[in-house]
Amino acid sequence: MNRRHVYLDHTATTPVHPDVVVAMHQVLETAFGNPSSIHTFGREAKQYLEDARIKVANLIGAQPEEIVFTSGGTEADNLAILGVAYAYQRQGNHIITSSIEHHAVLDTCEVLSQNGFEVTFLPVDKDGIVDPDDVRKAVRKETILITVMHANNEIGTVEPIEEIAGIARENGVIFHTDAVQTAGHIPVDVEQLGVDLLSLSAHKFYGPKGVGALYVRKGIRLVPVLHGGGQERNRRAGTENIPGIVGLGKAAEIAARELGSQRVSIQKLRDRLIKGIQERVPEVKLNGHPEKRLPQNVHFSFAGVDGSSLLTSLDLQGIAASAGSACSSGALHPSHVLLAIGLPMELASASLRLTLGRANTEEDIEYCLEVLPEIVAKLRSRPAV
Ligand SMILES: *Cc1c(COP(=O)(O)O)cnc(C)c1O
Repeated sequence: MNRRHVYLDHTATTPVHPDVVVAMHQVLETAFGNPSSIHTFGREAKQYLEDARIKVANLIGAQPEEIVFTSGGTEADNLAILGVAYAYQRQGNHIITSSIEHHAVLDTCEVLSQNGFEVTFLPVDKDGIVDPDDVRKAVRKETILITVMHANNEIGTVEPIEEIAGIARENGVIFHTDAVQTAGHIPVDVEQLGVDLLSLSAHKFYGPKGVGALYVRKGIRLVPVLHGGGQERNRRAGTENIPGIVGLGKAAEIAARELGSQRVSIQKLRDRLIKGIQERVPEVKLNGHPEKRLPQNVHFSFAGVDGSSLLTSLDLQGIAASAGSACSSGALHPSHVLLAIGLPMELASASLRLTLGRANTEEDIEYCLEVLPEIVAKLRSRPAV
């Protein structure tokens, strides 16, 4: 059999779209000016910056002046949470979030909780859904910020953001969502969702790494995290990463155009993969919500199989996947997300995440369905050590 290469780890990062490469290459070669300079070179760079801002705003139904460029999703999350916390601390010191957030949110909240803020980490149900009623009950008069992710990066569950944002608004609380896994993949509209702040990252939707954006609704105040120049309307100091921002803009433009059709075809492949695994592998558990899930996400636990051995065996067959349990440092800490949905330790460490992208084909899925059941059977037949 011909050795194939099948990339099924699009939630970790995506390949850069060829048109994005062309756009970035062109700006690197021709437009080196500093957008803060008033001469022709500066104005040319500024034009690229503002064009990209319009494209990102269009992707999420925002106004261009509500977009702040950052170094990625992590910085956008940090700026949203720290920025609001310090701007509104006279009004209160309480923040509400969920227990399945990305570490960019969780760890930032944790830092605030060590610096005079109080943070409520809401539980989720077995599918990873945050109950809006829990949000309602957690709100106090000191609450200044609620931050709940649009969709989870591990298990793919899409949260009831409209409802939660509505509760925030009723109570006069600012609402932020980490939309890094949804922007460019499913429709994201800041007006429809009713959010005040929203984070996105270019490399999760076929743009370059190291660039992202924070949507900040008009009227929301932010204390900057980075201090220095007055770039980004005094919200993010530092000479702008023009090639990266142009890449983000191009990726946003392509996503806005292709998202609809791409979503349908990717979801079809996802459903085929889920069904195929359920048919061919005994004793599997699908993690995440069965319907309210990202079109690109497949996440299973295989009882009795060591997740990291599974990854290595798949890699040997040319399939790039991710441990369902995203341990950042060795195998000691099973994922906080899997523990939060109540998965026992044995199942948490026996899981696999397969995430699809625009270039995946039916052949990729069939190949995976051919290889995976054999590997699981082999690993299960190994005597325990
Ligand atoms: C990848 C990711 C981030 C971090 O984005 P970077 O651009 O890699 O810093 C934040 N939140 C979620 C949900 C993500 O998937």
